[in-house]
Amino acid sequence: MSDYSSHIGILGGGIAGLTAGCTLLEKGFKTVIFERSKQLNEHGAGISISPNAIRILDKLNIKDKFIDSSFSPEKIIFHYKNNKVGFIEGNQEFVTSTRQNLLQILYNKYIQLGGEVLFNHDYLGLDQNKVELSFSNNQRYIVKHILGCDGIKSPIREEFFPNSGDPVYSGYHAWRAIGKGDLVDGKFYLGKGKHIVIYPANSEGKISMTAVVKNKNSAKDSWRAMGTKAEMLDDFKAFDEDTFSMIDSSEEIYKWGIYIRPPLKSLYIKNITLLGDAAHPMVPFLGQGGCMAIEDGYAFGMLASKYQGDFKTIQKQYESLRLKRTTKMQARSLLQGKIYHFQNPIIIFFRNLFLRFSIAKFAMAKIWNYDINKEIKKLDQD
Ligand SMILES: Cc1cc2nc3c(=O)[nH]c(=O)nc-3n(C[C@H](O)[C@H](O)[C@H](O)COP(=O)(O)OP(=O)(O)OC[C@H]3O[C@@H](n4cnc5c(N)ncnc54)[C@H](O)[C@@H]3O)c2cc1C
Repeated sequence: MSDYSSHIGILGGGIAGLTAGCTLLEKGFKTVIFERSKQLNEHGAGISISPNAIRILDKLNIKDKFIDSSFSPEKIIFHYKNNKVGFIEGNQEFVTSTRQNLLQILYNKYIQLGGEVLFNHDYLGLDQNKVELSFSNNQRYIVKHILGCDGIKSPIREEFFPNSGDPVYSGYHAWRAIGKGDLVDGKFYLGKGKHIVIYPANSEGKISMTAVVKNKNSAKDSWRAMGTKAEMLDDFKAFDEDTFSMIDSSEEIYKWGIYIRPPLKSLYIKNITLLGDAAHPMVPFLGQGGCMAIEDGYAFGMLASKYQGDFKTIQKQYESLRLKRTTKMQARSLLQGKIYHFQNPIIIFFRNLFLRFSIAKFAMAKIWNYDINKEIKKLDQD
């Protein structure tokens, strides 16, 4: 048994775990991350990070590194039946990248700050009274507090939040790949029950493609599996094949079943606090799951500092800051999927009109303008 009783134990070295780790280290807390995988690895997938989370990367002094190795699309253009229906002007702080790039930058920062990551540590159980974590490699560790950042399938949520619901297939699956091409804009192609999102992931021709299908019967068992371009095209017969020109048959194409869990009533129990997808997985149609993980990780670290390691108060304030916003984001993301996939021609007409007049920009502003530091300051006034 190893004594890490002066450390905050973070289960999962994904976006939430690494952001929490960086913020806590910056604020003088000791941390250790327990990560199931053997090394930092990511399957081919893009990610868009919006200004609400970019501002946090700025506070962690990694914004420039992230922006320089990513892309800020000039416009986000919406198409329906291959016709342009509207666009939103780009924003320097709306950044498109790859998950791998974001994770690598967070990881490098965490290590630079003196953080420790123990790979090959697959969570097995917790003795909550001793705050002792055990792993399938027979290692055990006593820690001070536990952050459950272990993603949508979170075993710690399963065990200690017993009535919180299992992950369920959302009715959507997504094809994802990283290809090559020459693109300066992000593009949405909307269709009945389907949509495609394409954007540059860096300035060297890396392009991210995500193609989503509403399909009740598919991907129930497969969380993530390799697929082929032919299988993907079969799902998108109604779309122009050229839309997928950035992907040739040599690229790895993954088919993801998209899963969700119902909102939690509370984000903590005793000495465990949940962050990121472990707390509030959402369908990806607003591009906010990773951004919420960044907000959560940063919020927890800042509150730990503000309330000087008094975990009862930190957990209470963390919940009051995060539960409402993330629950709303789960619902808004589901709604966005419905909007993209409308089937009724009259409703589609009004949706496209809405896009033509860039009203989508105003709908996103409330999400993107959220400033977590201002929200933390407001806690004093409540
Ligand atoms: C198709 C698709 C597109 C998306 N696009 C976007 C987007 O554009 N923008 C955006 O913001 N979000 C997007 N998301 C959502 C985003 O990917 C997630 O919300 C984000 O990865 C959540 O981060 P996390 O750290 O909470 O969880 P994860 O990234 O899942 O990390 C969890 C970590 O915990 C580890 N772990 C799991 N189990 C154990 C265990 N038993 N023991 C130890 N470690 C464990 C895992 O190995 C992993 O490293 C998208 C998601 C999908 C499916």
